[in-house]
Parts: sequence; structure tokens; C-alpha cells
Amino acid sequence: MTHITLLGTGSSTGTPQLLCDCSVCRSNDPRNRRTRFALLFETGETTLLVDAPFEIRLQMLAAGVQRLDALWLTHAHSDHLAGIDDLRIFSFRSGAPIPCFALPSVLEATRTRFRYLFDENEYTSVTFLDPRPVGNEPVSFRGLMLIPVRHRHGNTEAVSFRLGAAAFLADLSAIEPAEEEKLHDLSVLIVSCTMRHDHYKHMKLDDVLALIARLAPRRAVLTHMNHRFDYTELARSLPAGVEPGYDGMRIEAP
Ligand SMILES: [Zn+2]
Ligand SMILES: [Zn+2]
Ligand SMILES: [Zn+2]
Repeated sequence: MTHITLLGTGSSTGTPQLLCDCSVCRSNDPRNRRTRFALLFETGETTLLVDAPFEIRLQMLAAGVQRLDALWLTHAHSDHLAGIDDLRIFSFRSGAPIPCFALPSVLEATRTRFRYLFDENEYTSVTFLDPRPVGNEPVSFRGLMLIPVRHRHGNTEAVSFRLGAAAFLADLSAIEPAEEEKLHDLSVLIVSCTMRHDHYKHMKLDDVLALIARLAPRRAVLTHMNHRFDYTELARSLPAGVEPGYDGMRIEAP
């Protein structure tokens, strides 16, 4: 059994968005308050974090996270990366670097911005992060098999994963058929659905729903939503088996 927590379900600007007075940004529904994208996978004795947004400390406090065995970075945009400094505490506690899985280009970009996390430092005898490049091959970690799923995100590439019968897709504009093949027979698919309308970096809602229909997971949950999506309105409009996520949502996957 894998326990998945949607730590943050917002797009890059979060909801409410600064300077916006739209009805969603003014809404009192807590499900319309979205911090930036992060997911937690807890299975057996292993806790994996996907991405490290600005609010990661607050998200992990809210979820009561007590351990962290590895970090998986989908790509190096700030809304997925800028909170990575807050993860140092897990390395301080364990006395070991945190394995950090990512595409080589993403590790490079992360190293450029947060060099001190990869270098020896004055506080501990180990580095904070242990870079683990991800390619096309499945990643074996503490008895778990993570199957990388690579996809386009505008001009950049992002990498998500499948773990057993659960999978997620981070920021997504297109996905090759060969990668899509890896996502059949899922009990749960968590998928980014940033906006209603087309954008070169993101699939629009209708295309996300078409992708879900092709993959036919038992349950699909939307995340990385911008401030144009009202939770209740969106939930009503979605086909059976598809629902919007919200911050703190917990999902069980067999
Ligand atoms: Zn994003
Ligand atoms: Zn708004
Ligand atoms: Zn992005």
C-alpha cells in the first residue's frame, strides 16, 4: 500500500494569486487555497518527496512528515525547487546526504543555483544532497521500483514516475506514445492540469481529460491548478473517476 499526500496543488503563482481579485482568489473554500506543487509517497518504511516548492516546510509540517529518504525533482522551475534549502534538516538528522533523483540537466541547474547543498560544508561531515541522475531505466531504491516517465513541458523536459499501480505527471505539455505506454493499468493517476486554455508549456484541461480517457486509470486526480479553477465548479464538471485535488489530500494506492 502506498500513501500519497498532495502537499501542494497550485500552479507556479499559487492560489490566491497576488494582485488578483477573481472569485477563486477571494473564495473562502480552503480547497481554493493552493500552495505550489509537491507530492509525498509513503510506502512501508520509505518516504519519497516529489519536488521542493517555496512552501515545502509548511507543507511537511502540516502533513506531519517525520522522515525523508529521497527527493525526486521533476524539473528545475522555481515553483518546484526554490524551497530545497528547507530539506537540509533531514540530512542533519540522519547524518547522511539525501538521495536526489533528477534528469542530469536538472541536477546541473540545481547545482548552479544551490551549490552549497552539493558541496562539503562547515556544518556536517557529509554533503546535504547525493545527486542520482535519472535516465530511461527503472530506478531501484530501497526495494521500490520507480519507473521514470519523461514528458515535454514547453521547451524543457520533465520526469515523473510510476510506482506500482500509482503514477503522477508533473508539468506537462506533451507526452510521447512510448512514455504513455508506461501508464496503463493504474489505480491512481495524479496529473497536472494547470489551465483551462492552451499554453505552450501546459496541456489544457480538455487535453488532460483526453489523456486520462486514453489511459483509463481507476481514479484520476488533477493538480498544479491555477487560480481560474474553482474547486466545486471544476469537480461538478469532470467525468466520473476524475476529481480535482486539494492541498493535504491523501490517497491510498494498492
Ligand atoms: Zn510548475
Ligand atoms: Zn485569481
Ligand atoms: Zn514548470
